[in-house]
Amino acid sequence: MLYDAHCHCSELEKEYDVIVAAVSMDLNTSLKTLNMRGRILRGVGIHPWNAGNGELERVKELVDRADFVGEVGLDYRLSKASKEVQIKYFEEFLVPDKTVNIHALDAWEDAFNLALKHGVRRAIFHWYTGPHDLLKDIEGAGYFITINPSVTFQEKHQRIVDVAPVEIILTESDGGYVYRGKLLEPTMVRDALLFISRRKGMDEEEVERVVERNFNRAFGTSSNILSRE
Ligand SMILES: [Zn+2]
Repeated sequence: MLYDAHCHCSELEKEYDVIVAAVSMDLNTSLKTLNMRGRILRGVGIHPWNAGNGELERVKELVDRADFVGEVGLDYRLSKASKEVQIKYFEEFLVPDKTVNIHALDAWEDAFNLALKHGVRRAIFHWYTGPHDLLKDIEGAGYFITINPSVTFQEKHQRIVDVAPVEIILTESDGGYVYRGKLLEPTMVRDALLFISRRKGMDEEEVERVVERNFNRAFGTSSNILSRE
């Protein structure tokens, strides 16, 4: 079974034979995600690109109904919101009792330190391209990173596969997002899985098993919860 730890299902028309953690960008997509059925975990949040959009209180009210929080975080490269506003929004979503699905482009250390400061027990740093030495801290905190299918050509991401212990690795598609002109979809996690197996010198099935175990640890789930309809 394939596991996609970060996908914008609300942006995709089709259903896929993949177990998916569905992230949201704002109030509208959070409501849409909560209404989705199937083998998915539902996340609500406000993406750092949308920080300051005035929807904070309304999205926070949805957190109790969600399986996890996300996509939330910081983006010091692409977000138009100030650092202060991004941090304010991010901190509001750092709840200790839910998994937090984090976007942290060019803000890896800050996002990690804030998660730790707020006592977040389970966190996922999605599409990790951050500093190599932070991986030890991520591992030490019991957190995870995801590897995206773009790993087949994004060299910075490839080096992360080389240095990250397989015990902290999840696969994701960031489905619904168009990257370099290509629509990402959940089935593409297979590409990430194959890349990891080649690079780590492990059988594909073995990587699949490890990723499944990591996914259940990261989300505090068991596979049977995910077979609900
Ligand atoms: Zn995303």
